[in-house]
Amino acid sequence: MMAVDAEKRLRNLPPVDQLLREPAVETLVAAHPRVLVVDAVREVLGRWRERITSGTEGVPAAREELVPLIVAEVTAAVEARARPALRRVINATGVVLHTNLGRAVLSQRARRAVEVAAARYTNLEFNLATGKRGSRYELVDELLRQLTGAEASLVVNNNAAAVLLALGTLAAGREVIVSRGQLVEIGGSFRIPEVMAQSGARLVEVGATNKTHLRDYRGAITSETALLLHVHASNYRIVGFTKEVGLEELVALGREFGLPVMSDLGSGFLVELARFGYPYEPTVQETVGAGVDVVTFSGDKLLGGPQAGIIVGRRELVDRMKKNPLTRAVRVDKMTLAALEATLREYLEPERVLEQIPTLRMLTLDVATLETAAAQLAEVLRSTLDGLAVVGVEAGVSQVGGGALPTAAPGTFLVTVRPAGVGVNELVCRLRAGEPAVVGRVQDDRLCLDPRTIAADEYTPLAEALRRALEVGG
Ligand SMILES: *Cc1c(COP(=O)(O)O)cnc(C)c1O
Repeated sequence: MMAVDAEKRLRNLPPVDQLLREPAVETLVAAHPRVLVVDAVREVLGRWRERITSGTEGVPAAREELVPLIVAEVTAAVEARARPALRRVINATGVVLHTNLGRAVLSQRARRAVEVAAARYTNLEFNLATGKRGSRYELVDELLRQLTGAEASLVVNNNAAAVLLALGTLAAGREVIVSRGQLVEIGGSFRIPEVMAQSGARLVEVGATNKTHLRDYRGAITSETALLLHVHASNYRIVGFTKEVGLEELVALGREFGLPVMSDLGSGFLVELARFGYPYEPTVQETVGAGVDVVTFSGDKLLGGPQAGIIVGRRELVDRMKKNPLTRAVRVDKMTLAALEATLREYLEPERVLEQIPTLRMLTLDVATLETAAAQLAEVLRSTLDGLAVVGVEAGVSQVGGGALPTAAPGTFLVTVRPAGVGVNELVCRLRAGEPAVVGRVQDDRLCLDPRTIAADEYTPLAEALRRALEVGG
């Protein structure tokens, strides 16, 4: 049985409509949707009911004392509910293509294009020259053909959809030959064998995990074979005693048997990064140039654009994909196309593209620039955090992320923050909850901030966020 005292105090809780008439709550209603404030009031009253039921200690007896406490909680609850679910994050991890943080940051041109496509009517499927119905796929077709050298193109929702569509169109009910060493799982449960099954194609694995020879492919070809598939090993490398068949050899074998060859590049890219110290990998145009019939790659990995799956290749094969009803289900939207076109246009200016596309700019920053940036960031932090933490700078490594260039370890300089009054785990927790949220790396009881992925105009907001997180309760 509940204590009489608790029952009395429960009755003492103000009703919802009385709280809604409190001036501070009325201000909230003026600034936010009423339903949101009412829900917050109910939530807070529920909390107080529970508190009182489990013990009246610390619960004021008089309603006049209780109301301000409730109103303060309602204000905090309304603010929490009013925050968008998709929020801005300062990425201090140094992982440039951080899939969990939204992968590529768009170029300014792409951001403007999205704004127009979002705010206005567009010629998405309307041919302005003829006044007749047009195709959304034609908007970026010329650019893609020009940049990759392919005959035809098709853009879908993401690269997983591109692979599914290509396999389903070219090989449903038939066999696809893939090297065992290429049966990759990309994050978020994209596994080549599963996508293959979903497409209706039958997987024929050849070779061993570490070695696949051309004769393995040759020996697996039957009258049921529809396609030879090459998959970029994206997020891992098999090292040591290894062999994979090169694309040229695979293409020659395909020609010999009249079989198309497809390459899922994963993170396809249009500019070579080897001159910046990254491991050499073939570009999309080199892959097309090698005679590969169908190439698929992501829009938001190294390309640095919006989430999209790009298919380029032989016209006859791409046209078949366009007629597949699945294409409608994995259709790309107008804002994506706007951002993709603008991103591709950046590549028409090779001397500016590394500057204009944030992904490429971050990946090609040299260590000296990063050292200067780290010193500047450390300076801003020291002047803002005065006494709240010990700030240092040391050499470290960044990551490409997004399953691209997994063995690359680009050098950087990290700003380290050792909090004085709070544990580092508590600090990162508070930083995630802050506005803007900040995500960094924890190493040896310190928070490490990599300037590679932090824009210069984020230094001050980052310092302020750190100050608030370090001050809370301490
Ligand atoms: C990343 C990746 C995919 C999936 O691409 P999304 O654009 O994320 O759908 C498919 N294949 C490979 C090899 C990849 O690296």
